[in-house]
Amino acid sequence: MADGEVKRAVYGKARELGVNLVRTCSADAWEERPVQDPEFWPRNIWPWASRVVVLGMPLFAPMMATAPSMVYQELYDTSNRVLDDIAYLLSNYVTTLGYRAMYFPRDCYFNINVLEDDPRAAFSHVLAAYYAGMGTIGDSHNLVTTQFGPRLRIVSILTDAPIEPDPMLEHDLCIHCEKCLRSCPVRAFTHALQQGQDVYDMDAIACTKYHEELVGAHHWPCGICAAVCPVGEDVRRYQMEPMVTPEGIAHCQRFGS
Ligand code: SF4
Ligand code: SF4
Repeated sequence: MADGEVKRAVYGKARELGVNLVRTCSADAWEERPVQDPEFWPRNIWPWASRVVVLGMPLFAPMMATAPSMVYQELYDTSNRVLDDIAYLLSNYVTTLGYRAMYFPRDCYFNINVLEDDPRAAFSHVLAAYYAGMGTIGDSHNLVTTQFGPRLRIVSILTDAPIEPDPMLEHDLCIHCEKCLRSCPVRAFTHALQQGQDVYDMDAIACTKYHEELVGAHHWPCGICAAVCPVGEDVRRYQMEPMVTPEGIAHCQRFGS
């Protein structure tokens, strides 16, 4: 199979399995545009993996607008489970084409409390999606996309299949409205000017501690910084009418599903 055909076959299979967004980056991107320490670079974990295929599916905005709530919790769990299932099936498909493939599962931690010791993920799907041109990284540290803003879940497949990488986006999708910063219930974000550059820092431990409270209340994750983001074709559909009423949000936050 020619290289272009491999890409068409893998992307076609991903869409057949229900994925909305599929993009690829080179595993060398971690080294060429370093953001993380070398221990996180895919090739330092699986040296044969030359490509990372990133899959994205939406978190439906009207459900997310109720966050933190049981409605959002179930959406979050379902989207993670579906994405991991699809990543498993697509990795298997790539191996049937004769290549090596595996996926890095979605939320790789047993319990939110372990993130207090070190909130870093073993593998950043956000960074993989950024390198693959699926979106750019917003001030909220979420991936921001044209289609869904930051309201999506993503998973990554590592492979040696000869899939041509997709270009990174050239323009920033975050419009720096700071709605995410202002809406965070624990004020986890800070904005500072460093050498004339805007730097948006995030206190991941404060965010984690708030999530521990929400787990106790059976209404997690928080997701407010993603829910309020005005970027995305998904929210533009609701510009002429309220996505959810204030009473509806209170209702979903008060009751379980
Ligand atoms: S998820 Fe919630 S607590 Fe964490 S940074 Fe976003 S708004 Fe703040
Ligand atoms: S809410 Fe505004 S500042 Fe935050 S990520 Fe979205 S566009 Fe950027």
